Amino acid sequence: MGFINKLTQEKCPICKDTLLTHKSNTLLSHIIKSCPKDHYEKEFIPSLEGYVEHYNVVTT
Ligand SMILES: [Zn+2]
Repeated sequence: MGFINKLTQEKCPICKDTLLTHKSNTLLSHIIKSCPKDHYEKEFIPSLEGYVEHYNVVTT
C-alpha cells in the first residue's frame, strides 16, 4: 500500500507541520489528513482512487 506510506509523510503546505490522520475511517479506507492548525486537509477517496484537497487559510 504505497500510497498510504506516502500519505504518512504529508506535511501542511502552509506551516509544514505533519498532517494528522485522526479523522480517518480505516474501515472504509477513507483517509483524511489534516493540518493540526486547520490550514489544509487532504482526503483520499477510494471510490475515485484520488484525492480531494481543501485549503483553509486562516488569517490570524
Ligand atoms: Zn498548517
